[in-house]
Amino acid sequence: MAHRITDTCIFCGACEPECPVNAISPGEDSYIINETLCVDCVGHHSEPACVDVCPGESIIKV
Ligand code: SF4
Repeated sequence: MAHRITDTCIFCGACEPECPVNAISPGEDSYIINETLCVDCVGHHSEPACVDVCPGESIIKV
């Protein structure tokens, strides 16, 4: 399980500092989640932190 940023990302960067495991980094056209690192925020937050701060709905569970 992990989360993924879709192509609707507007590159605002709000999610990057929220990730407790530093799984988010800027890509070429959107931010990218390293799905190997992402733990769905289990043990860190009750809800995925990046999903909460995304101003769109660009982060999905995969
Ligand atoms: Fe990071 Fe949590 Fe988002 Fe996964 S769900 S990328 S661990 S903030």
